[in-house]
Amino acid sequence: MAVSSSNPGFFAAIETSIADTELRRKLANASGHHLESAASTRAEFPRYDEEREAARSLKTAAIGRLDELLIELRTRLEGNGCHVFFADDAAAARRYIVDLARVRKLKRAVKGKSMTTEEIELNPALEKAGVEVVETDLGEYIVQLRHEPPSHILTPAIHLSKEDVGQLFHDRFGTAYTNEPERLTAVARDNLRAAFLSADLGITGVNFAIAETGTLVLVENEGNGRFSSTLPDTLVAVMGIEKVIARLSDLSHFLEVLARAGTGQKITTYTNFITRPRSHDELDGPREIHVVILDNGRSRILADPVLREALNCLRCGACLNVCPVYRSIGGHAYGYPYQGPIGSIISPALFGKAAGHLPFASTLCGACREICPVKIDIPKLLLHLRWKENQNNLQWPRGAAKARRGAARFGRMANHPRTIRALSRIAVLIMRPFAHEGYVKWMPGPFRNWTLTRDFPVPKAPLKHRSADQPQSN
Ligand code: SF4
Repeated sequence: MAVSSSNPGFFAAIETSIADTELRRKLANASGHHLESAASTRAEFPRYDEEREAARSLKTAAIGRLDELLIELRTRLEGNGCHVFFADDAAAARRYIVDLARVRKLKRAVKGKSMTTEEIELNPALEKAGVEVVETDLGEYIVQLRHEPPSHILTPAIHLSKEDVGQLFHDRFGTAYTNEPERLTAVARDNLRAAFLSADLGITGVNFAIAETGTLVLVENEGNGRFSSTLPDTLVAVMGIEKVIARLSDLSHFLEVLARAGTGQKITTYTNFITRPRSHDELDGPREIHVVILDNGRSRILADPVLREALNCLRCGACLNVCPVYRSIGGHAYGYPYQGPIGSIISPALFGKAAGHLPFASTLCGACREICPVKIDIPKLLLHLRWKENQNNLQWPRGAAKARRGAARFGRMANHPRTIRALSRIAVLIMRPFAHEGYVKWMPGPFRNWTLTRDFPVPKAPLKHRSADQPQSN
């Protein structure tokens, strides 16, 4: 993994995570389980690739006319009786929501899972203004109790085992220790029920916003999103500008691929449609709905013709599950709310230069591109960002000039196949004496860094040069 050394905090976090073998075991278990389920659910669905194509082309078309669709969405939402606020950045979004809480004297908020509210750091701002905030997604609830950020965009507590959660609940609530998921869920449910019934503010994210009808769509598995969006009198839904889609009929194509790619479900347990506040003759639902539509750097992504493909992301989490880097270091090491391959692409645009090193944290193996339900060419985007960083010369560390000269020398040498072949033979002769049980695990001197973190298979002798008239095997 090539990463600029200009971010020592990231290096330290990587080293800590890699040394934590227990963390890697938990990540491998959880993401492996998702990948297996996803593979079998997709295998049972012959139309999967067709639906992927449809979802990709619908999303690309929507991103291509984002301004038009956002205006249509706002018109519909306002026509339905919702309030709409366009926030240029995180501070504007936070200010709007905190002011609303102050003016309405709201004191207790329940939140459905929302990465966008993590992005804008909403919880600390509300708490500072005297609003108690309770996360109600089980994973979010667990990490909130631990005062930690989520470590996966879909599975916030993926870095924890059921034993960790059992111990946490025992310590926090004094309940008997258990590692049985059903009993742990019952403890959380008891606590959350009280929070739902006393909340005056509900906060949720938005998975899709349908411009044609002004409908917000929320997909989830626990029913907490439904409670958060219907029980309190005031609802705030926070969405990025890229969540808008054109028509209600487009939605089914996204729902066909979203859960299949992420958790391996055919469809999520709950699909909530929110179109307007409660009318005077209805018994439930919020009396007031505020939709905060956030830019916060997304326009910069949109303005880059290569990078804009990243706005197609459905936040299914599949690219994290399959990524060898994410599976080795976990989500917290990235240091930003969006982790893994897609996080490494969008974070520099959303959080600025400080996140500029993240596109280098990838092996470019391409597994993320293969699994993405909307076929985002993630390696291409990572390479594009690396190129941009290098152009700006922002992330070249000390010694970069030396590295550049080395790369230039290699480039010249690579144009001479005979030299390459001769050097390959020499390399094989040098490496062979260090081989043990089929691998080279240690080498001395200047080669030591190569073998510090990886084992090489014993190299085979390079192919002899083949003249053009020699037959080729099939
Ligand atoms: S980039 Fe693709 S695979 Fe990754 S979270 Fe987004 S939609 Fe899912």
